[in-house]
Amino acid sequence: MNRSPTAAQVLVVGAGPVGLLLACELARARVRVVVVERLAAAMNESRASQLTARTAELLHERGFDALLAEAGHEPRAHFGGLGFDLSEADSGHWGNWKVPQYRTEAALAERAAELGVPLLRAHELVELTRRPDCVVCGIRGPRGPLRIRAEYVVGCDGARSTVRRLAGVPVTAVPATRELLRADVTGVRVRDRRFQRLERGFAVAATRGGVTRVMVHVFGRAPAERTGPPDFAEVVAAWKKVTGEDISGGDPLWVDAFDNARGQADRYRSGRVLLAGDAAHWHLPVGGQSINLGLQDAVNLGWKLAGTVHGWAAPGLLDTYHAERHPVAARMLDYVAAQELLMLGGPEVEPLRAVFAEVLGVERARAHLAAVMSNLDDRYGPPGPAPMGRRVPNPRPRTEPVVVRPGSPDTAPLLLRPDGHVAWVGEEGLEEAIRGLIRTRAIPREDEEGRCGTVTRT
Ligand SMILES: Cc1cc2nc3c(=O)[nH]c(=O)nc-3n(C[C@H](O)[C@H](O)[C@H](O)COP(=O)(O)OP(=O)(O)OC[C@H]3O[C@@H](n4cnc5c(N)ncnc54)[C@H](O)[C@@H]3O)c2cc1C
Repeated sequence: MNRSPTAAQVLVVGAGPVGLLLACELARARVRVVVVERLAAAMNESRASQLTARTAELLHERGFDALLAEAGHEPRAHFGGLGFDLSEADSGHWGNWKVPQYRTEAALAERAAELGVPLLRAHELVELTRRPDCVVCGIRGPRGPLRIRAEYVVGCDGARSTVRRLAGVPVTAVPATRELLRADVTGVRVRDRRFQRLERGFAVAATRGGVTRVMVHVFGRAPAERTGPPDFAEVVAAWKKVTGEDISGGDPLWVDAFDNARGQADRYRSGRVLLAGDAAHWHLPVGGQSINLGLQDAVNLGWKLAGTVHGWAAPGLLDTYHAERHPVAARMLDYVAAQELLMLGGPEVEPLRAVFAEVLGVERARAHLAAVMSNLDDRYGPPGPAPMGRRVPNPRPRTEPVVVRPGSPDTAPLLLRPDGHVAWVGEEGLEEAIRGLIRTRAIPREDEEGRCGTVTRT
């Protein structure tokens, strides 16, 4: 008997890291959410293995300390191959946290299961029909076609998003001009090198447990037309051309190519359809930002969508997801393009690298870069001096906004969003700020010991 659900408040398409975290956020807020995933089994590649300080904070607050404990802590990062220190980043989880993507996905999938989220594997979304009060989704599953009616659909289905295409969301994109080849190889002796720029190209090599990962780019070479991964012979030839070394005697375990195509959906919301993660923005995976942007999209969207489904969200709250997250990714696309130029540009970028290296010696410049690359300087909501728009340290993960009165009676109240960002500071204007988040209902007031009162709205 086919026990697949036929209705959901939210259908999440894609069980990558972003879809899984969003499903957890929604389930935590008591939204009936279903996830469909095209793959029959979990992905087992390391892919995006770097979590930034802001992502680590969010995971810690949600009880994923075991995942963080298995991650390696990196106190340094690089910008286009130029190293800099992250210790000046203002976070209890400063630094980068290295853990293979399949482990992150496994932890998130386990939590989603604990929260009772149905995850339908080997189910591919192929059709979207919009109705005034819902979206009807056509799914291809192992036991034939299936229809799921959902109040909202979120495409977390990766850079080639089917949801984005079916919803007709326009994109602004720059086609690929550069390509990198990489392979995991056994039986070769190649010395480790990080971001080595040579006369003819760029090379990286690292050997761990007898497996050598090589990554290579030939300066000025355009990306090949591909229908699948490259042959190992292509990697061998490129490696030879750039480094002069012969790795043809090695045994390839995995070969892959990726390019610098980048782009962004022009709208993250189209009526009842939303986009998050790589479906909303994609770029060369340099500097390891993509999974972090996506996980932070999920946290920004989760409570707003839950509030909309439950009916307490103020009109327009859901649209702030696009308004807040689109500029964050647009800025990061510029940072990635700048890194790509510094790292993969030919000899003509050497003067730029020299200047940039000098600027990185300036403490304020370094601190700025550490904050941006750790995703710590994103601010949301009305302008104003700190803490307006910033995240408070160690916020309790909530599912609804709350007014907090820290400490002594003369301290200004803070209107806190469920994602920990300060939506308002002070008594004056507080009611209006609350009305910007919630429709009609009581909003909990909470002092720093966690005692709650209520503000009654009409
Ligand atoms: C091959 C590959 C290698 C990568 N390597 C790196 C790397 O080295 N470093 C780095 O920082 N980043 C890397 N990335 C990028 C990184 O993995 C992504 O940024 C990250 O996974 C984004 O998560 P996501 O959940 O938005 O999308 P994804 O992880 O892409 O997840 C999307 C999910 O949606 C599913 N799906 C797609 N279409 C449908 C459909 N129609 N119906 C149902 N399910 C669907 C897919 O099967 C997939 O599981 C790589 C990505 C890929 C694809």
